[in-house]
This record gives sequence, structure tokens and C-alpha cells, in this order.
Amino acid sequence: MEGHTPKKPWYPWEVPPGAETRSCEACGRPTQIPWILRRDRERRIWRRWICTSCHAWTERPEEE
Ligand SMILES: [Zn+2]
Repeated sequence: MEGHTPKKPWYPWEVPPGAETRSCEACGRPTQIPWILRRDRERRIWRRWICTSCHAWTERPEEE
């Protein structure tokens, strides 16, 4: 039996109840939800938004 290590991160296929949503730039559905945060070298915070319909993602700057 071979072990498989999934390299792709897991993303949900449904909008969690109560989640804030945005329109997806890839498929146009209003099913993008806020996902992970990251900080760049200039210490700005970016929020990755995941689309639960097509799994495209967009990073938008996050206010501190
Ligand atoms: Zn989409």
C-alpha cells in the first residue's frame, strides 16, 4: 500500500453558516469566504479568500 501525502490544502465546498462572503473573481458566484492570513515582508496583512464553488482564491489586504 502506498502512502499519499496530499499537497493541496483542504478547502471547503460550502459556505460555513454565518460566514462573510464576497463575489468570486473566477466564477462570479458570491461564495468566496475569508480563509488564512499571512504577513508579507513589509508587514502588511493579507487575507486569502477561498471560493467554495470553484476553489479559486484571491488575496486582499486586511486592515489591522
Ligand atoms: Zn469561484
